[in-house]
Amino acid sequence: MFLHKEGITALTGVAMEEVTGDQVKLTDGTRLPFAFAVVVPPFVGQDVVRATPGLADDKGYVPVEDTYQSKAYPEIYAVGIAAQVPVPWQTAIPIGIPKTGFPVESMAKVAARNIAAAVKGEPPISHKEFGEMAAVCMMDAGNNGVLILADHMLPPRKGGVMIPGPQVHAMKVAFEKYYLWKTRHGYVRLP
Ligand SMILES: Cc1cc2nc3c(=O)[nH]c(=O)nc-3n(C[C@H](O)[C@H](O)[C@H](O)COP(=O)(O)OP(=O)(O)OC[C@H]3O[C@@H](n4cnc5c(N)ncnc54)[C@H](O)[C@@H]3O)c2cc1C
Repeated sequence: MFLHKEGITALTGVAMEEVTGDQVKLTDGTRLPFAFAVVVPPFVGQDVVRATPGLADDKGYVPVEDTYQSKAYPEIYAVGIAAQVPVPWQTAIPIGIPKTGFPVESMAKVAARNIAAAVKGEPPISHKEFGEMAAVCMMDAGNNGVLILADHMLPPRKGGVMIPGPQVHAMKVAFEKYYLWKTRHGYVRLP
C-alpha cells in the first residue's frame, strides 16, 4: 500500500540475474531499463560467524531460541539482523527478514537479561519470540516519513497501522537530535 502511494512497483518472487549496461535482467526474463540503479546485496553475515561450524545457515543468519541463544552453541547469543527468525509464510525455511531498530533493541534486552542470568549461574529468565514483539518504527521514506505501529511483528495481529506524512520525518529528526544529545552526555538511563 505504501509503495503504491509513493509510485513504486514491487516485484516479488524473482531475483536479479544480471546487470547489463542500462538494464537489470531478472530470473523470469523481465528486463528493467534504468538510468540510475542502486543494488542492495543480500545479507551474508560475518566471515567469523560463517567459519564457525553449525553456527549460521548458508545465508549467514544464526538460528536462535526465543532466548536469543544460538541453537548450536547456547553460550553464543545473536540478536538483530544476524538472528534467523521463523516467519509464518515460509516456515520450512526460516530466514533473517529485514528488521528495524526497535525489535533489534527488544532482542538485545532479552539477550542481556539472559547473559546476566548465565553469569550468575542461573537458567535463561527472558523469552520473547520475534514475531510476538511489538512493532514501533519511525521510518524515513523518500521525501516523506511513515510511522508503523502493530501489536505483533508478524501475523496473526490484532491491529497494525501505517501513518505516512512529513510529521514522521520531523519526529525522526527530533529523535536523532535527542538521542545524540543523550549519548554524548552519557545519560544512559533516559529512554
Ligand atoms: C539506510 C538504513 C535506514 C534505516 N532506517 C531505519 C529506520 O528509520 N527505523 C528503524 O527502526 N530501522 C531502520 N533501519 C534498520 C536498522 O538500522 C537496523 O535494523 C539495525 O541497525 C540493525 O541492528 P544490528 O545491531 O542488527 O546491526 P548493526 O546496526 O549493523 O550493528 C552491527 C555492528 O557490528 C559491528 N561489526 C561488524 N562486524 C564486526 C566484527 N567482525 N567485529 C566486531 N564488530 C563488528 C558493526 O560495525 C556494527 O556496529 C535502517 C537501516 C538502514 C541500512
